[in-house]
Parts: sequence; structure tokens; C-alpha cells
Amino acid sequence: MASAPTATGTVIVVGSANLDLVASTERHPLPGETLTGTEYSEYPGGKGLNQAVASSRAGAPTSFVCALGADDAGRFLHTVATTEGIDLSAARVSESTPTGRALIVVDEHGENTIIVIPGSNDECPPAHDIDSSDVVLAQLEVPISTVIDSFSAARAAGATTILNPAPATTLDRTLLSLCDIVIPNEHEVELLGGVTALQQLGVEIVIVTRGSKGIDIHKGSEMTSLPAFAVDPVDTTGAGDAFCGTLAASLATGSELSDACQRALAAGALATTKHGAVPSLPMRADVDALISSSS
Ligand code: ADP
Repeated sequence: MASAPTATGTVIVVGSANLDLVASTERHPLPGETLTGTEYSEYPGGKGLNQAVASSRAGAPTSFVCALGADDAGRFLHTVATTEGIDLSAARVSESTPTGRALIVVDEHGENTIIVIPGSNDECPPAHDIDSSDVVLAQLEVPISTVIDSFSAARAAGATTILNPAPATTLDRTLLSLCDIVIPNEHEVELLGGVTALQQLGVEIVIVTRGSKGIDIHKGSEMTSLPAFAVDPVDTTGAGDAFCGTLAASLATGSELSDACQRALAAGALATTKHGAVPSLPMRADVDALISSSS
């Protein structure tokens, strides 16, 4: 990993943007059955977009490398991102493939089923124009070759690379050997073969997020556990994205790892106190307030 940046770097998020189509219904339909639902809403989503919004709200200059379709959904997501102050000059517009969508059905118990159609996300280009003070942050909802090419370019530039290996998958040696920091949750780290396997591939720092139990930071043979902030959660959607985006933003703007982790813990906790993903991502001032009220 590059040494702590002295100048403010940009967080370059390489990842997915989806339109989430959410239908509420009393119960899930059986195969072949048609039900009349109770409510319908559309939300911006995709781990890439969520983490870019989290980073921008945390106060870092943020650029989002993604692929959107040339359709209403793509234009909507473009507007959402630019309204958040995110630089979309590296985004690709796909003329022939529709914007990615997630079809979400929620029953009256809050249980959901989700079908993700990657669409234009499969055409996400790699990041270019990377400076040594930048932080390149990626997840796994775009092609793995895109992430590998982005991290290779980041390494060549001396920038910091952070992977949030979600959705969970098995170990890809080439990709993991290009990561400075990997942020899996408890389920993801198991699928990747454990912390030691990641360290053996050269990952310097592994931060395992453990929901309301906080995080474990593994650096070399040392392990530090930090507790979660105590909040009253109403919806944990977006907690992991808030954590990753805020951590990247804090590192890019010059924080040391331990301070960056505290800010990310606060952002993850705050994201659980509101419904949805993008609406629940906290502003920098909210993170400051939670940290000072807890110290
Ligand atoms: P994911 O959403 O990717 O599964 P986690 O559930 O581990 O990730 O949540 C990410 C981070 O968000 C946690 O490490 C913690 O900092 C914060 N967080 C999540 N759930 C809670 C909670 N119930 N109370 C406080 N903080 C939480």
C-alpha cells in the first residue's frame, strides 16, 4: 500500500449502478402464480453507486467508473450521482445494453427475493488516470477483469487499492494479489478461505466487518477488534457500503487507518438507522456528531 497520502486524493469507485424496482406484497408468488401487490417504488442502487455516494458524502472528491444504459434508468442514475457531487466523466454509456436492474419482492414479514440483471454493468470499463494519492475502491458486481485491470493500473500509479469482495465469491489469486486492503463480511471471508489465505497472497490489511459486533482489523500477525457504535437499527441495508465508502474517503483525505476505521464504523452504524441504501448513507457532519457524542 502507498504510504499515507499527504495531498487529498480522489476516491475512484469502479462498480455497479442499478435501478432497484421494489414491489411489496403480502406473500411471495408461487411459480406460475400472479399476485396483486400493495406498493411499488424505484430506488438508485448497486454497490458501486452506493459506495461512491458514501465516499462523496464523507467529504472526498469521488469519481465513479461505471457503465449505464442509454435509457431512462441510466439517465436517472446519472442525475443521482452528479447531484451528489460525483464525477462521472469516466462513466461509459452503453448504446445497446439496458441499465442494470434489481427486481426486489418484499413480503409483509420483510423477507425479500432479489433478481439482479447486470445489463450494462457487464460493460463497466477499468479505471484510468490514477494518481499516487488516489484510492481505488471496487466490489464484484462488474466483470472481474475490469477490477483486475483497474487495480493493476492503480498499482502502477502507486495508489491504494481496496476490494469489498461482495457479492461473496471464491478466491481469485490474481485479483487478491493486487489488493492492499480487503473488506469482507463474516460470510465473505469464509468463502475466500480465511484471513491467512488472503495475507499469503500479499493483502496487507484485512478488515472483517461483523455487523453489530463491529470489525476485526488484521495487519500482519496483529489483530485489533473495534466495537460497533450503539444505535437502534431499523434496516441494515447499505451498512457495508457506508463502511467501505467512508473508509476509502477517510484514507484518501489523509486519515490514518485507525481514524478511518472509526469514521467507517460510525457511518455503518448510522446507515442502519434509516430505511434503504442511498437515503441512509450519512453526511460527514453526522459521522462527526456520532463520534463526538460517543467519546
Ligand atoms: P454487510 O452489510 O456487508 O454484510 P455488516 O453487516 O458487517 O456488512 O456491516 C458493516 C458495518 O456496519 C459493521 O462492521 C458495523 O460497523 C456497521 N453495522 C452493521 N450493523 C450494525 C448494527 N446493528 N449496529 C451498529 N453498527 C452496525
